[in-house]
Amino acid sequence: MGLPDVEGLRERIALACRVLAVTGLVEHILGHVSARTGPDSLLVRGRGPVERGLAFTVVDDVQEVRLDGSGEVPADWSAPGELPIHTEVLRARSDVTAVVHAHPPAVVAASVADLPWLPLVGSYDIPAARLAHDGIPVWPRSALIRRRDLAEQMVSALGHRPVVVLRGHGLVAVGSGEPAHAVAEAVTRALAVDSLARITLAAAATGAPLRPIPAEDLAELPDLGPAFNVASLWRHLAARAEHEGPGTPLRP
Ligand SMILES: [Zn+2]
Repeated sequence: MGLPDVEGLRERIALACRVLAVTGLVEHILGHVSARTGPDSLLVRGRGPVERGLAFTVVDDVQEVRLDGSGEVPADWSAPGELPIHTEVLRARSDVTAVVHAHPPAVVAASVADLPWLPLVGSYDIPAARLAHDGIPVWPRSALIRRRDLAEQMVSALGHRPVVVLRGHGLVAVGSGEPAHAVAEAVTRALAVDSLARITLAAAATGAPLRPIPAEDLAELPDLGPAFNVASLWRHLAARAEHEGPGTPLRP
């Protein structure tokens, strides 16, 4: 992995936080995004002295720390309480270069109802169908992940998958490759889980049985590739964040 463009990456992370807010994956002030800047370091969205929530994230909210949490950061900035989510995923998964943690209400509702994560839909949302088909793990604990040992349990549940649902809490999604791309990839994966959760809740509410789509239909759902699934969707999401967001600059 080459050296990332740190300032560009800080903007990407700040924008990703705004995207999570406008898409409803985070509410108010909870949730964070990170990206790897080296073998032992990451940029992460924390809190400054005038925290206004994810929708109003600015570049200064994103600072660089090491995997042990130390770093030369502004005195009035603090890392998220759940920093171990990010550091332990990055420690355990050398392929991962970005981590998204969010509390999407639909994902939380589906998780506490213990609804299964099945490929209920096909062409409606191909990435969601493929994620569900390949398996969406659930970490059964609802604890705040402030300690390394809790984060290690969560990472075990994640395994080598791109997402893990945290029961009664939210989700963690990861991305890989070039870090700015990875941030966008992790956001799109989080959105896919949210999309599936909404459909699952709506279908379950009818009382109808939840049945995966047939294998022959799954076989007709191609992976449309990162140019479509990540790059195009990211352009849409970035535009939404700009038009539906606060309209305040990322660098005030
Ligand atoms: Zn959380």
